[in-house]
Amino acid sequence: MPSLKLSERSPERDRRGAEPLLIVRGLTVRFPVGRAGFWGNRRLFVHAVDDVSFEIFRGETLGLVGETGSGKTTTGRAILRRVPIAAGTITFKGNDITHVDGDNLRHLRRDMQLVFQDPYASLNPRMKVLDLVGEPLVVHGVVRRIREARDRVRELLELVGLPADAVDRYPHAFSGGQRQRIGIARALALEPDFIVCDEPVSALDVSIRAQVVNLLQNLQDRLGLTYLFIAHDLSVVRHISHRIAVMYAGKVVEIADRDEIYENPKHPYTQALLSAVPIPDPALQRTRRRQILRGEIPNPVDPPPGCRFHTRCPIAEDRCRTDPPPLEPKRPEHLAACWLT
Ligand code: SF4
Repeated sequence: MPSLKLSERSPERDRRGAEPLLIVRGLTVRFPVGRAGFWGNRRLFVHAVDDVSFEIFRGETLGLVGETGSGKTTTGRAILRRVPIAAGTITFKGNDITHVDGDNLRHLRRDMQLVFQDPYASLNPRMKVLDLVGEPLVVHGVVRRIREARDRVRELLELVGLPADAVDRYPHAFSGGQRQRIGIARALALEPDFIVCDEPVSALDVSIRAQVVNLLQNLQDRLGLTYLFIAHDLSVVRHISHRIAVMYAGKVVEIADRDEIYENPKHPYTQALLSAVPIPDPALQRTRRRQILRGEIPNPVDPPPGCRFHTRCPIAEDRCRTDPPPLEPKRPEHLAACWLT
């Protein structure tokens, strides 16, 4: 079996003139939740993702941030074709994959992988590491039997910083950070180009989060990987992302380069999220005014008209309650959806 393709693919982070690896246009996901009305003739939907557009370039990490219920995980799963898509298109490597199925979808799944949030729940405790990491190789016909995958699994374990002899152990023998490394090794088994990292560090101790983020960054440099990195707070994504998209109630409300978004946030929601990120300098932290976000994220079955953030926005005016603001340029390569900024 050929060895892993290390260092052959160089990361291409310079976006100018490059074709995006992934293009998402108008992505909309709705889940039916029942019926309403006297005759039950009105169908109700959770509007999980609504008209979301962005692109991700090869070798790039796009951080996708928002509170629980903002639609970021559903966006990631829709791109991987794990939930039904109501509208919009997804283009991957120049091909429209919005409705591929059968063998084409199976083939696509080799190229697009998922790292799960919870390394405790995502690994079957009754399977050895060899089976956990080698399973995708059997499922996709790379090897016929799991024992043929042994060398590849050992190589993958070393790649993610685990000893090769971990191959014969069970998940319970590992810490949370090590289990997440096993999950990453499994995601890498089929040598994908694109990985959705769905809150991969939020279930881990703060002390080991940086190690896992550094590992993902290191793997990106070595293998030329492209990531959609989902997180619920802006402090986690800063280190790893090249650009950041902020989601609120199923919509992207702001998207820009990482430093631009931290230094010059335009949307009041982004500003509130940023004000909650701790600053390492205690003196600066003491002088800082934190914006408290009041209220809850709106009911996704019946999202408010106009700007979906207007029910919590400290500067909302009449127009915000009726007219949805477009996601439009506020500065070069910096889009935000707000009438007033
Ligand atoms: Fe606030 Fe209005 Fe801007 Fe929405 S459009 S974020 S409600 S100011």
